[in-house]
Amino acid sequence: MSKLSKEQIVQSVPQRGFFGQPKGLFTLFFTEFWERFSYYGMRALLLFYMYDSIANGGLAIEDSTARSIMAIYGSLVYMSGIIGGWIADRLLGTQRTVFYGGVLIMAGHIVLALPAGVTALFISMFLIIIGTGLLKPNVSNVVGDMYSPQDMRRDSGFSIFYMGINMGAFIAPFIVGTLGQKYNYHLGFGTAAIGMFLGLIVFLATRKKNLGLAGTYVPNPLEDGEKKVVFTRFAIAGVIIAVLAAITIPTGILTINRFTFLVSILGIVIPTLYFIVMYRSPKTNEDEKSRLLAYIPLFIAAMMFWAIQEQGSIILAEYADKRTALHIFGFKLESSWFQSLNPLFIIALAPLFAGLWVKLGDRQPTTTRKFSFGLVFAGLSFLVMIIPSVLNGTETLVSPIWLVLSFFLVVVGELCLSPVGLSATTKLAPAAFSAQTMSLWFLSNASAQAINAQIVKLYTPETEIIYFGVIGGISILLGILLFTVAPKIQGFMRGVR
Ligand code: GLU
Ligand code: ASP
Repeated sequence: MSKLSKEQIVQSVPQRGFFGQPKGLFTLFFTEFWERFSYYGMRALLLFYMYDSIANGGLAIEDSTARSIMAIYGSLVYMSGIIGGWIADRLLGTQRTVFYGGVLIMAGHIVLALPAGVTALFISMFLIIIGTGLLKPNVSNVVGDMYSPQDMRRDSGFSIFYMGINMGAFIAPFIVGTLGQKYNYHLGFGTAAIGMFLGLIVFLATRKKNLGLAGTYVPNPLEDGEKKVVFTRFAIAGVIIAVLAAITIPTGILTINRFTFLVSILGIVIPTLYFIVMYRSPKTNEDEKSRLLAYIPLFIAAMMFWAIQEQGSIILAEYADKRTALHIFGFKLESSWFQSLNPLFIIALAPLFAGLWVKLGDRQPTTTRKFSFGLVFAGLSFLVMIIPSVLNGTETLVSPIWLVLSFFLVVVGELCLSPVGLSATTKLAPAAFSAQTMSLWFLSNASAQAINAQIVKLYTPETEIIYFGVIGGISILLGILLFTVAPKIQGFMRGVR
């Protein structure tokens, strides 16, 4: 196919039809709504399913291992975005990649819906990791494709899309979580599969009409000669991995702990390599090099932030399940429902924050300062979790209000950092790497969870004061440090605010 110009693509998308936004936003909004419904619904149950006793329908995996698996799984889900970006860029184009991703994700949830134990768990994880890598960064990239570079609606389009993400994440625990915990885990996972199925239907039924040419082209297709080399390399790598797995798994050399450790290392190595390659590329000019240097502290800050935020579905989920009084006013709360608090607060507060930045205009804090607020609030969200154990010790169940407060605080931080970070990434990444910026941003989350896989093992209710205190304290200190050096970092950004 001949190369399509940016204008041709934009012109092919009906420019109105969904809250004053391009019609395609409808398609992407609901595809991502259902995908996140399935992802966060599954995650709201998964930890409980893993550590619950066999008699209760769980897998009876040891608590600390179950937590570590949650983190490593979360990390790989976002790490695989690199593969998804590459496949869309060079082989399939974004639309088709999104579709295949959705199919794999649905298959992953179906596998988990079968009562087939640990084997099913790992097969499902593999499918969902690859599927999300194909779908998640690409669906967000198609959003960007629908707007011309001058279109002022772009940011609000992304905000609406972000609402879709969080609406899916909000309702999922009430449906997937309730069915899973009240009736049967596999029934819950089955509903996650139905969610993804609905997402695929919306996508297939409306994409022709709504998305036009957006995401239908392959921006940088592999030449025929290159194809051979690349496919041979993939095949060799695949065989090597399969042989290594066939030797190391049955002989007990590759344990879950060692695998986790390996991924934790990757979580540090991959972003480091990414930065080195971008920095040394002849396509990166002096201004862009300077901006990359400025991006490093922001990336580290984002890692610290996501490390805390993502523990919401691990440590705070376990806290909800084991340390929180769930019977209130004669009503039984399900522990999975607490996973709805983060997206609920996001939905409630996002418009407020967007309005605040508009109102402050030029007087609003710089990107770096917003990041520092993100860290301070994340830190506070852990520090408040010290209070219930200081007041009542760690033997008695505590009021759910502490978790509500903690999720509220982390969301205030999330709104200072997450949307800001995405837009900063697109502005700070060198032009030659712009297609990968989405993957780069998700890497901050992947790396955070890779490190979390080691940290979350250390939590015990007896030591929770130290656990929450140290992690929360480090985040706040980093936040204060970042706030102080912010003007210097902004200098390196060469004009980007
Ligand atoms: N929670 C958001 C989502 O699922 C953000 C993830 C991230 O940016 O790392 O889309
Ligand atoms: N706030 C997260 C995100 O934006 C959702 C969650 O953690 O439930 O998608």
